Amino acid sequence: MPEGKHRAMGSVSRQTLDCDECGSTYFTDASPMAKLCNECSHQLYGYPQCVHEFVEGRCFHCGWDGSVSEYLRERRRSAESGPDRQS
Ligand SMILES: [Zn+2]
Ligand SMILES: [Zn+2]
Repeated sequence: MPEGKHRAMGSVSRQTLDCDECGSTYFTDASPMAKLCNECSHQLYGYPQCVHEFVEGRCFHCGWDGSVSEYLRERRRSAESGPDRQS
């Protein structure tokens, strides 16, 4: 299994940007939002979440590197400790 050099069939270089929320780089074609990575789009706006598969520290589907902003970290923590957690 080739690691690190994942290539989508045919298409080559994918455009990457920095996420405004968490600061991670991400593939623009994997995110529905213009300035957010796939993960933050999901966390903030409920868009479908990438099934992350990390290769060498970043998801090869969406490019997210696992960064989580302070805001989302806090939000997740209060959600987890909250009384009505959703599963
Ligand atoms: Zn992000
Ligand atoms: Zn991903």
